[in-house]
Amino acid sequence: MSKLTDSFGRRIEYVRLAVTDRCNLRCQYCMPAHGIDIVPRQELLTFKEMYRLIRVLTELGVKKVRLTGGEPFVRKDFVDFLEMLSFNDLLDEINITTNGALISQHISTIENLEKVKKINLSIDSLNADKFAKITRRDVFPEVYKTFELLEKSSLDLKLNVVVQSGFNTDEITDFVRLTKDKNVAVRFIEEMPFNGKGQREMKENWTLKKILEEIKTEFIVEEIQSEKSSTSRNYKIDNHLGTIGIIPAFTRTICNDCNRIRITSTGTFKNCLFDDGVFNLRDFIRNGASNEDLKELFLSLIKEKPENGFIAEANRKKGNVSESMSTIGG
Ligand code: SAM
Ligand code: SF4
Repeated sequence: MSKLTDSFGRRIEYVRLAVTDRCNLRCQYCMPAHGIDIVPRQELLTFKEMYRLIRVLTELGVKKVRLTGGEPFVRKDFVDFLEMLSFNDLLDEINITTNGALISQHISTIENLEKVKKINLSIDSLNADKFAKITRRDVFPEVYKTFELLEKSSLDLKLNVVVQSGFNTDEITDFVRLTKDKNVAVRFIEEMPFNGKGQREMKENWTLKKILEEIKTEFIVEEIQSEKSSTSRNYKIDNHLGTIGIIPAFTRTICNDCNRIRITSTGTFKNCLFDDGVFNLRDFIRNGASNEDLKELFLSLIKEKPENGFIAEANRKKGNVSESMSTIGG
């Protein structure tokens, strides 16, 4: 049982770790066209530091880690890091979120890593031109190839689709249709203002309710009972092989059962996506902290976990949310 229990009785068993702030794409909802100011390499956590932080967290009861970024596969030797992390016998699952543009040649290696179970592939359009407009890079064929390979692989595949007014809302039902013959979970994500001051004007807010209404114009959906800590509300459709889900990332109706913490690529500990970072773990360990010191620290930081994302946002000292998701680790 997790020793990491917050002051609302929530057991923390899941950590999201951004392995880099670098990315090969420039998604318009995530960063400006010219990219974000990346930090000097020495400010990023090393893989050894990441391994150690995860090891200590698993000794406190964390069972799952999601590796994200930036784009995790941009970081040199990321696949070796997956192997290294697999040696942590206290970890049940290592999951990955990726844009899929650099991974097709690694899929068979990843499939052989016992603890790597789930891959979330971000794909916001099924149309190459629209995809290029959204990501500002021309990599749709490679991402779609990755999608097809992952769908055939033994890995559990989810597609992440950020619903963007004026860009891909007309494709919501196309994505749902994809689940008819493909064993995939398509998850629509409410767009959040974490765009690295990309100043994207959001004409309309596509909330869970609105996305669900759009789906219901064509499909009859039935809600599926999800795991308590699930980030999405999930649905099935008769005779569809796959499922669909909606992540209320912005309207935040899922905070009650949150079991997650985050560590950014520079080692900032975050209790909530919407807080502005509560502690720099990198400096703490580079200044000689022992594993016992780290444990004590984690146990006390968890007690400060805010009840929900609205409270976390209100407590921010650095002003409105505007940092890029690639620095936070989505
Ligand atoms: N580069 C990888 C990718 O795109 O899958 C991993 C990092 S990315 C920050 C993680 C997830 O956050 C992606 O699914 C992405 O679409 C999502 N994301 C990024 N910015 C977002 C925003 N402003 N609102 C909602 N989701 C966002
Ligand atoms: Fe890169 Fe992922 Fe952000 Fe797109 S969403 S710019 S792929 S980090």
